[in-house]
Amino acid sequence: MKLTFLGSGGGRFSAISQRRMTGGFRIDNLSGKNYHIDPGPGALVRTYQFGLDPRNINGVFVSHAHTDHYNDAEILIEAMTKGMTKRNGTIIGSPSVLGGYQKWGPCISKYHQSMSDKLVLKAGEVSELDGFTIKGTKTFHGDLAGVGFQIDYKGFKISYTSDTAYFDELVDYHKGSDILIASVLRPGIKSINGHMSTFNFIDLVKGVKPKVAIMTHLGLKMLASNPLTEAKKVNKETGVKTVAAFDGMSLNINYNNPRKFKMISLKDVNSNAHSCNKTLFKNERKNTFQGVIDNREFDELKIGKK
Ligand SMILES: [Zn+2]
Ligand SMILES: [Zn+2]
Repeated sequence: MKLTFLGSGGGRFSAISQRRMTGGFRIDNLSGKNYHIDPGPGALVRTYQFGLDPRNINGVFVSHAHTDHYNDAEILIEAMTKGMTKRNGTIIGSPSVLGGYQKWGPCISKYHQSMSDKLVLKAGEVSELDGFTIKGTKTFHGDLAGVGFQIDYKGFKISYTSDTAYFDELVDYHKGSDILIASVLRPGIKSINGHMSTFNFIDLVKGVKPKVAIMTHLGLKMLASNPLTEAKKVNKETGVKTVAAFDGMSLNINYNNPRKFKMISLKDVNSNAHSCNKTLFKNERKNTFQGVIDNREFDELKIGKK
């Protein structure tokens, strides 16, 4: 299994400024399938930028109705369903994301929900999906219907808190996780309504005792005070291997020994496509001709014939 962070920024101001990218993360090769989690602004572009293909996802998960989590969901669903022409994949989301709740959502149109299976995830409910189970986990956040998850694949557990304040039951929801991914917006003890600070995260990690803890969704104040130092604090206080995510961070996870993951910093494969050179030509040819043929995307050709 591989985890790839197409962004490690979070909160409105990280998203607006793009000080860190906000494309969410991907879980690839989980039971042979790929999922995009919380595709915020830029998720589609970041996918290509880090050399991945949005067309090979089997599911899109959106935890709650905030833009930094749902913004690119519909275009990724289009990628997953060959431009809404082929029934494919699963859209997993909170009640607010899929149906709307109070002033929140829905974040995905009926049209975009029409070519995939839907899974409405609620806190505490467990559902079967593609060879693993997924449990909704409670959040305490602006969108009260928001959820995180805990995936159980043959006993290997991956948890994602999504945006939430710290509360005691949070530990129970994520207990037993091998990998705990959390939104840690703020450094030190400075928590803010509906979000965790490093201090809160230390309590969570102490309670959950995962093998690996990953901090992501970093806000501007967190970035200003160096996320690496904050991760070291968590490690020192809890004894748990803790990583502060960065844009393009990719972890190859070995189910038998998750602590010994292989970390790669993905190259921006598009960077040389902005200049005039041979690679550009090659890439463009590959993207236009081969990509079109491989993926049977003949929109333009059809239009041309009319
Ligand atoms: Zn957020
Ligand atoms: Zn939020």
